[in-house]
Amino acid sequence: MQINQNYLALQDSYLFSTIAKKVSAYKAEYPDKKVISLGIGDVTLPLVPAVTSAMQKAVAEMGQAETFRGYGEEQGYLFLREAIQKYYAGKNISLELQEIFISDGAKSDLGNILDIFSTDNTVLIPDPVYPVYVDTNIMAGRKIVYINGNSENGFLPMPDFSVHSDIIYICSPNNPTGAVYNAEQLKVWVDYALEHKAVILFDSAYEIFIQDSSLPTSIYEIEGAKKCVIEFCSLSKTAGFTGTRCGYTIVPLELMHENISLNRLWLRRQTTKFNGVPYIIQRGAEAVFSDEGLVQIKSNIAYYQENARILAATLDELGIWFTGGTNSPYLWLKCPNNLSSWEFFDKLLHEHNLSGTPGVGFGTNGEGFFRLTAFGSRENIIEATNRLKELK
Ligand code: PLP
Repeated sequence: MQINQNYLALQDSYLFSTIAKKVSAYKAEYPDKKVISLGIGDVTLPLVPAVTSAMQKAVAEMGQAETFRGYGEEQGYLFLREAIQKYYAGKNISLELQEIFISDGAKSDLGNILDIFSTDNTVLIPDPVYPVYVDTNIMAGRKIVYINGNSENGFLPMPDFSVHSDIIYICSPNNPTGAVYNAEQLKVWVDYALEHKAVILFDSAYEIFIQDSSLPTSIYEIEGAKKCVIEFCSLSKTAGFTGTRCGYTIVPLELMHENISLNRLWLRRQTTKFNGVPYIIQRGAEAVFSDEGLVQIKSNIAYYQENARILAATLDELGIWFTGGTNSPYLWLKCPNNLSSWEFFDKLLHEHNLSGTPGVGFGTNGEGFFRLTAFGSRENIIEATNRLKELK
């Protein structure tokens, strides 16, 4: 037996454990200080009533012989795929039910989709980035080419048509930078993918945070995208499903490579290795897309958006350069006085009792930047901004 040697090429991620260690060491030394985290990457508001009551009803059904369900439909229950189809119709995007696959969240599908692609492909990944894209490709031994996000391009790198790649990752609104591509920029990416016969893996996990109606909330708003893009979305941040687990992946029927439908390959992969998302969870997810559910989840999103707005206003007041915060729960700031990401972390912790996430943890281009998130309570955000205003 031989192990997969590619795993040895993975870098250990000490980012969140180092943050936790530094914060607890500080708290041990100064037990009377209250440290506020502006680095919360998980939602904090509970599931909305429309979702919990749909799940309670589904639990009751599972306890009755007449309504009990065993294995579900292959791609996910029709009722949920129809709800998602209707949600996309609201964006003027028409999807076939066959194009929608229900998942237990975007992370699994983003990793698992790689099963259907040769390991000989070259992958194009923006830096800084959500680390899952990089690590899943290292595990498979694929060649990775990075494109640079930086303050000059507003952390929205664009393709170089003279450099070939086969698989491209785009996350918009972006984690960690909060930056969002506009329609013209996404069109250039679609044109690049079509010219290079590449596939774009588009992560729209934060689409619900987009407030500016001119910005695309799905890449399928762009002409030609159905020929070259797989879109991944999740109810984690949309509806507080981080612990409940449900997402969806769109694989258009028009997406063909070597005369083979990627939709059929993905179906074959999923029916072989995945037995679906629980009925109870799919009923909860269906309720997210109901009229009542959408009103309720949007009220939670508005709460986080207001947190982001308060943080953004404070950074503006301080004259600190940042991206995000308007159409995203993330704010990505340039560390003042040219401090490194970790120097700024230490300063915030020791002088202001605040914690956040050093940008360098998301890639080399993140050095000198810092990520704040809007997922905390209003009370903490306000207290944190008061402390930020004392930054020197
Ligand atoms: N994509 C991005 C950019 C994320 O930030 C996250 C979660 O933080 C995910 C995907 C994964 O979400 P899920 O909980 O659906 O697996």
